[in-house]
Amino acid sequence: MRVGIGNDIHRLKEGRTLVLGGVIIPSDKGEEAFSDGDVLIHAIIDALLGATAKGDIGSLFPDTDDKNKGRSSLELLKETLQHTGARIINLDTIIELEKPKLRPYIDKIRESLSDNLSLDIDRISVKAKTAEGLGPIGEGLAIKATAVVLIDN
Ligand code: MG
Repeated sequence: MRVGIGNDIHRLKEGRTLVLGGVIIPSDKGEEAFSDGDVLIHAIIDALLGATAKGDIGSLFPDTDDKNKGRSSLELLKETLQHTGARIINLDTIIELEKPKLRPYIDKIRESLSDNLSLDIDRISVKAKTAEGLGPIGEGLAIKATAVVLIDN
């Protein structure tokens, strides 16, 4: 068995769409990014690449390559699954965001991850927390995600 960890942080900008795990979350701010900015998927991609020791998201999908511009993160995830051949046992994640409250969307995000990873929803954990008003996350300037994945490759 092998374990991988990944994290990602994006600035939040008014007028951008907030996408988490492929789910659009109603919000006045969304991730500023070269791609669609799905910070949760980016963290999961890095965890998969970490578990298989195949580099990181920046080496696999460089932002200097125009073909990656505005690409759906779910598409990048699909390519990562093919590239790593990862057989996932379970996935645990944390999203750090001041607002909106994510509780009403957690199961929707888990369902989306289940579909996109072909993994039973009972093996997928998504936790959300605020930063208690502290730092750039607490001030609503940024969103961060962390993922840990266990694979049996
Ligand atoms: Mg990112």
